Amino acid sequence: MFELRPIYHSTVSARVLSRFLLRLLLGALLGLVPRAFGQALPDLGDISQATITPLQEKRLGESIMREIRSDRSYYDEPEATDYLNQFGQRLAAHSPETHQEFEFFLIRDPQINAFALPGGFIGVNTGLLLAAQSESEVAGVVAHEISHVTQRHIARMLAQQKQALVTSIASIAAAILLSRVSSEAAQAALAFGQAGAVQAQLNFTRDNEREADRVGLQLLEQSGFDPRGMATFFERLQRATRVYETAAPSYLRTHPLTYERIADIQSRLQDLPYRQITDSIEFQLIRAKVRADLDSPREAVAFFEASLAERKFLSEAASHYGLAVSSLRTNDIARAKKELATVVALVPANAVVQTLSCRVALAGGAAGDADKCYREAIRAYPRYRALVYDYAEELLQERQPDAALKLVEGRQQVLGADARLYELQARAYAALNRPLAQHRAQAEAYARQGRYTAAVEQLQIGLKSGDGDFYQLSVAEARLRELRRLDQEARKEAKR
Ligand SMILES: [Zn+2]
Repeated sequence: MFELRPIYHSTVSARVLSRFLLRLLLGALLGLVPRAFGQALPDLGDISQATITPLQEKRLGESIMREIRSDRSYYDEPEATDYLNQFGQRLAAHSPETHQEFEFFLIRDPQINAFALPGGFIGVNTGLLLAAQSESEVAGVVAHEISHVTQRHIARMLAQQKQALVTSIASIAAAILLSRVSSEAAQAALAFGQAGAVQAQLNFTRDNEREADRVGLQLLEQSGFDPRGMATFFERLQRATRVYETAAPSYLRTHPLTYERIADIQSRLQDLPYRQITDSIEFQLIRAKVRADLDSPREAVAFFEASLAERKFLSEAASHYGLAVSSLRTNDIARAKKELATVVALVPANAVVQTLSCRVALAGGAAGDADKCYREAIRAYPRYRALVYDYAEELLQERQPDAALKLVEGRQQVLGADARLYELQARAYAALNRPLAQHRAQAEAYARQGRYTAAVEQLQIGLKSGDGDFYQLSVAEARLRELRRLDQEARKEAKR
């Protein structure tokens, strides 16, 4: 398989970036290098400049994230994403660089990998989550990526390689995309890549890697994870590499100096006292959920049945939970109920199990039960987004837009700028036949995703709908001016 070696020491899945890169490529093939890259890339300023500012880095990261968010491999499942972010923020909170913001996200990809983008965006493949045998192992990889950001390794790499980075990524992505249609075109793209990006060395230096390991180990320890997780995970990856020589985990294939790195990490671990760290129940449940969601329903049922029969699991409760989730997907509600009852008996009350309880109640067909379940669950876990999305969705399905609106607007203050809540709000207003409010909410949903042109369009539609009183119209007009300004700024940046 092709790999995007140059973008980072660990690779980003080709498909994730392909749309973003295709735009870069088109410019390149038209001979508009380097100016045309600006169509998709924000302005990085004078490329002879020796440094890249945090703001430039953030803008570059955001423009890549816009593409990732619209790709089908972006695994935007609120429970898994919330878990990963809590987990990642817990690690990042101990970093000395307190001004850096982080956003963690999941990529639906069986390859074992994690990667950092400019601007503090850190992606974790679902394959890594499933392959890890403890929470501290995942923490080891994530802490390493966080450290690349806080130690400004990406910024330094970008500053040195701005031009080469853009050119080589574009040509490689081009080859991947074009090979599906025409091998001749793919050859041309590769030839362009060789000419355009001679020897672009974009992997981190050995010093960078060692520093990310060293700082990452400190984060692990200070955040209450087992620092040994980093070493055990790398060792497991190495063993896997020996067994499957041709299908080495992508993290390792692009990671330089693996043996030395492990030895280095182990020597740092020698001075640390041994401590037993128990995985959180959320880690176990979310892993099971990811598997139950991503495998086909039947495969998932078979997997959890076998894991329970052979008693091969990290957590028995999580296997029952996984079986409940996958049974629900096969529409076997009686079984989902039975498995859920086992989980409830095994683990303390928590939002993940509670959310499944409400889903099972809803699938059971008794709307009254589901209603009661959601109301109680949201009271107990007011910040758990999956519950709010689920319940709002259910109210909309049941044609109770007033109740859905009340729920969404009540949660907006607590959950902050959340595109999905604005989308639910827009649907509730649509059902209530209030077009101005509907398009305003949709505009906010787009604005939260950085899609300002679409946001401006929504507000224009809303303002022309003939809906709204004088006050509402002037608020919408003021917002339209602001969004136009943001849209123009984004366009200007793209042209510069
Ligand atoms: Zn690294």
